[in-house]
Amino acid sequence: MTTAVTIPQHHGAGGHVAVAARARRVVKAYGSGETRVLALDGIDVDIERGRFTAIMGPSGSGKSTLMHCLAGLDTVSSGQIFLADTEITGLKDKKLTQLRRDRIGFIFQAYNLLPTLNALENITLPMDIAGRKPDRQWLERVVETVGLAGRLKHRPTQLSGGQQQRVAVARALAARPEIIFGDEPTGNLDSRAGAEVLGFLRTSVDELGQTMVMVTHDPVAASYADRVLYLADGHLVDEMVNPTAEQVLDRMKDFDARGRTS
Ligand code: ADP
Repeated sequence: MTTAVTIPQHHGAGGHVAVAARARRVVKAYGSGETRVLALDGIDVDIERGRFTAIMGPSGSGKSTLMHCLAGLDTVSSGQIFLADTEITGLKDKKLTQLRRDRIGFIFQAYNLLPTLNALENITLPMDIAGRKPDRQWLERVVETVGLAGRLKHRPTQLSGGQQQRVAVARALAARPEIIFGDEPTGNLDSRAGAEVLGFLRTSVDELGQTMVMVTHDPVAASYADRVLYLADGHLVDEMVNPTAEQVLDRMKDFDARGRTS
């Protein structure tokens, strides 16, 4: 008889979910004097590893600023940002550029593919630039996951918008980053192509263990996430776990109503 007990490791010791990124008392101000805007006004948040997190809130609430600060694309005015155990606030430009390249993936609203390269070349370009050899098996799995097998020799102009964004998703996944940030990744797609891309993002979290953070204003897109964070006026005001599109929409209506009466 063995008495050994296996503790599921992905939740870490003591039942805590591992943290991929962290913001501590983060303030971001733009401008000065009378034109000073507090885009982020003291944000504390943990982004869980291996989960899909959506950031929502009205236009101007600080969603993009929070994403940019978490991803090291923008500096904070005060407070700290950590990627796993690395504090990125305070890193010098060169180190920060290196960290973004080696440890973070990005998917933007515009697909940002190079038109002269085919799909596969676009997917491996960041690794080629970094002088890293793609892991063939992983690459095949990623290509399969986003449904691009058979389209790898196509140039971006020979692909639909949804397919181009799938190439951008595969490009982000291929380097196995610790975390992928998406800024309205389905903003340019019709609802069917958007649903496909969101489905692949979901699959990459469920089957490849990817950590995903997505800024969106679309309740349907947010419903693909495990957790939705709500921002208002630079504050984290609420969150929802395992949301449905209806619940997200109701919560947003709630905020709108409160905004109008306050
Ligand atoms: P969201 O993504 O939720 O629409 P943002 O993060 O883009 O919101 O913006 C938050 C606030 O910061 C807004 O009031 C916006 O006008 C302001 N802001 C964002 N970027 C800049 C900038 N580069 N210069 C000045 N103000 C900015």
